[in-house]
Amino acid sequence: MFATPELVRDLTEDKTETMNDAMRAGAVWERVRRRLRAEFGEDVFNSWFKSIEIDQAADDAVRLSVPTRFLKSWIDNHYRDRIIARWTEEAAQAVRIDITVRTAVTNRAPLKPKVLPEAVRPIIPSSAPRTPDQAPAANGHSDTLGGSPLDPRLTFDSFVQGRSNTLARAAALQVAQSRATDSVLFNPLYIHAGVGLGKTHLLQAIAGTAQAAGRRILYLTAEKFTFGFVASLKNQTAIAFKEALRNIDLLIIDDLQFLQGKQTQAEFCHTLNALIDAGRQVVVAGDRPPSDLENLDERVRSRLAGGLTVEIGTLDENLRLDILKQKLNQARTQHQGFDVPLAVLGYVAKHVTQNGRDLDGAFNRLLASNRLTNQPVTVEMAERSIRDLVRVAEPKRVKIEEIQKIVAQHYNVSRSDILSSRRTATVVRPRQIAMYLAKTMTLRSLPEIGRRFGGRDHTTVLHAVRKIEGLVGQDPALNEEVEVLKRRLND
Ligand code: ADP
Ligand code: MG
Repeated sequence: MFATPELVRDLTEDKTETMNDAMRAGAVWERVRRRLRAEFGEDVFNSWFKSIEIDQAADDAVRLSVPTRFLKSWIDNHYRDRIIARWTEEAAQAVRIDITVRTAVTNRAPLKPKVLPEAVRPIIPSSAPRTPDQAPAANGHSDTLGGSPLDPRLTFDSFVQGRSNTLARAAALQVAQSRATDSVLFNPLYIHAGVGLGKTHLLQAIAGTAQAAGRRILYLTAEKFTFGFVASLKNQTAIAFKEALRNIDLLIIDDLQFLQGKQTQAEFCHTLNALIDAGRQVVVAGDRPPSDLENLDERVRSRLAGGLTVEIGTLDENLRLDILKQKLNQARTQHQGFDVPLAVLGYVAKHVTQNGRDLDGAFNRLLASNRLTNQPVTVEMAERSIRDLVRVAEPKRVKIEEIQKIVAQHYNVSRSDILSSRRTATVVRPRQIAMYLAKTMTLRSLPEIGRRFGGRDHTTVLHAVRKIEGLVGQDPALNEEVEVLKRRLND
C-alpha cells in the first residue's frame, strides 16, 4: 500500500477517508523505518531509530516523537536529513520533519483524563518529559570501548515468559542477579535463536539488571567489538583496549555471527579465556548454535560450547498474545487514553506469526493509526494494518525484472512492450500493474522504479500506483488478477 500522506485535517470529514490517510502515513513511516534499518544496520537502527514514533503527518510536515531529550538532539544533529530524504522518496513529496520529546504518563499517579479538543490533536498531552537519564547511554566502561547503548525498555519485567523461552530466561535471570562474588555457574552462557525471538531483549535485560546492581558490565554487538578492536589497533591502543575489556565483571556480546576477521576472533578468544579464567561472566547470543558458526575460529567455538547453551524457540500464539498485551501496557504508560480491545490483540497474535519484530511492527501500526486519527482501534483497522504488514514482511525478495516478466506473460505482451513508450491500452494497464507490484512488493523507491521501467519519471509511477490502488478497490476481477500475480511472484 502506498500514497502520499494527506493530513488528518478535519475530523468532520469522512472518517474512513481520514483513517485511510493516517494509515497511509503510518505505512510510509513503516517503509521509511525499514529503509533506515537496511541502510544503517540493526545496531545503529536499534540505538537511534527504533523508539521514534509518528505522531502527526500533514502534506508538508511530519511530527515524530522520541522518548528522551538526548535522543531528540542526537537525531536532530545526525539523522534528521536522512529521515527527511527517505520520507520524501517514499511519499514522493518533500516534507519538514519536527522531532519532539514524548511525554510520559506515570503509572503511579494516573492523570485525570484531559478533555481533548474534538478536532485534530491526536497527540496526547501530559506531564513532564522523560528524564534524560533514560537516554540509551551506557556506563563509563562502555564509553571507553564504544559499548552499545541500552534500551531502558528491554527489561526482565517486560520480557514475557512462554514455553519457548523459559530456560533461556531463567539462565539469563540467574546470571543477571548473581553478585560479583558469587561463583559463576554457567560460563559462558550462550543463547541462540532466529531473528526477532528475544535474544537482544534478554541480553539487554541482563545488562540493565547487572549494571543497576553496580557490576561493571559491557554490552557490545560483535560488530562493535570488531570495530573497537580494529580501531584500537589503528590507534595503537590495543593494550588499553584489552586491559579495559578484561577489567569488567560481565561481558555481553550480541549477534556473534557477525564477529569478523581472524585477528578479531583471536582477540575475542583471548578475552573470553581471560575473563572466564578470572571467574567473570560472559554472555553471548547468536543466530545459531556454536557448532554451526562455520566462520568462527575453532577455539572460540569450543570455548562457547563448553558453557551453557540455550535456545529460544519460536513464539507460539499464546506467547504472541501475551507479548502484545505487555506492549499495550507499556504503550499506555506513554499514550494516555490509548487502548486496544482484546479481540484485536487476538487477531494480531493469530495472524502475525513470524517473530517479535513483526509484532512490534503490527503494534506500532495500531498505535500510529489511533494517534493520527483519534479513532478507536478496531478489528477492521487491524485487518487493514496487518494485511499490509504481512505482505511487507514476506521474506521472499521479489525482483523488478521478475515482476515485469510475470506480468508480461500473464497479459500476453512482451517485457519490452512494458518498458517501451507505447500507449495502447493493452500495454498501459499491464505496465501500471507491474509498477504497482514493484512498489508494493519491493523496497525500491519511486524514482528507482521509474528508471527500471524504461526511464520514466517517478510521478508516472506514482500515478500508476494510485490508479491500480483505486481500481483494485472497485473492481473485484482486477483485484483477483492482482492477487494471482502476487501469488505467482511469491511462489
Ligand atoms: P532478536 O535479538 O532475537 O532478533 P529482539 O530481542 O530484538 O530479537 O526481539 C524483537 C522484538 O520482540 C523486541 O521488541 C522484543 O522486545 C520483542 N520480544 C521478543 N520476545 C519477547 C518476549 N518474550 N517478551 C516481550 N517481548 C519480546
Ligand atoms: Mg538482536
